[in-house]
Amino acid sequence: MISGFSSNSELVQSLIRDGYIKSQTVARAFLEVDRADFVWPGNEKLAYVDEPLVLGDTGQTISAPSMIAIMLEALELKRYEHVLEIGTGSGYSAALISRIVSPGSVVTVELSYRLYLFARKNLERYSNVIPVLGDGSKGFPPYSREELYDKAVIMAAAQKIPDELLSQVKNDGFVLAPVGGRGYQDLIKKWKNGREESYGACIFVPLRSL
Ligand code: SAH
Repeated sequence: MISGFSSNSELVQSLIRDGYIKSQTVARAFLEVDRADFVWPGNEKLAYVDEPLVLGDTGQTISAPSMIAIMLEALELKRYEHVLEIGTGSGYSAALISRIVSPGSVVTVELSYRLYLFARKNLERYSNVIPVLGDGSKGFPPYSREELYDKAVIMAAAQKIPDELLSQVKNDGFVLAPVGGRGYQDLIKKWKNGREESYGACIFVPLRSL
């Protein structure tokens, strides 16, 4: 039997206790965004379980809250930042990022049309999230140099961090991504100057490309 919590705040308290959530900013975002609003219809009872959950029959999953907490802490987000996310899924992680960077914004790219529509509906209340339908395996080029992203994150497993994506962040910016094949990946933060830092093992569905 899967043991879950009966409310979002109980789930968040456990993520704090277990050390996944470390900062006030990430804790506040997790308390503001109810995971039940992002699970696939019929899965509401499982919303407060710290596990990935399938998104209907799309073959994709909403990530485990603890995994998203690790990603959000590694992103070191601040207010006013402009962030690119590849792999919208349910929209849950985009919503969390948006609460921290507000009044900054999040551009989030999803390859699956059905998930794009699902996430767009879930994200209606989040006016600083811009959902995009498309292949984000090479990022999503900003329209001008002024619009380069502060940070970018891939919410799926990449073979390597794409150079195109690195070129879309500001000079002091970085890309955070699970790097590796199927199974386990290494969570890597890579700066534009080539420096890399590892945040340990993680498990994500593969990044696909057209
Ligand atoms: N963080 C999300 C879950 C991400 S799962 C959440 O909170 O729900 C990874 C997602 O990446 C899936 O929805 C998958 O369809 C998407 N994806 C895979 N390859 C992609 C690509 N090339 N471009 C954009 N999205 C992609």
